[in-house]
Amino acid sequence: MDDNSEKTIDQVYERLKKHAELTGYYLNPDDKFTKYLIRSLLINQKRYGYWACPCRLASGNRKEDADIICPCVYREPDVEEFGACYCALYVSKEIKDGKKQAEPIPERRPPKRKRTVK
Ligand code: SF4
Repeated sequence: MDDNSEKTIDQVYERLKKHAELTGYYLNPDDKFTKYLIRSLLINQKRYGYWACPCRLASGNRKEDADIICPCVYREPDVEEFGACYCALYVSKEIKDGKKQAEPIPERRPPKRKRTVK
């Protein structure tokens, strides 16, 4: 089976949507955009073996990229402060309901030289 088939993307979409809502997050209501990001996550899964963030440059080293494996460690503060994660895959209820517009989100991940790998 093609991992990136529409059916697989729809299944992952439903699973993420359900899980997000159980944990206080929402998927971006723009389904086309959200499914595009999901497709990118599945491509990264194939490429690196893990869900590297589709909006950042992954190193290919799981330990180095641990902070940007989706959902990344920056999701919580970004959704809290800006209403969306860096990629805008996950959004707040206000944005999901169209009560607030998503705004550009500055990169919260420190530059490589300032990162500590555990
Ligand atoms: S920014 Fe969003 S899509 Fe990217 S890893 Fe974080 S939670 Fe996932």
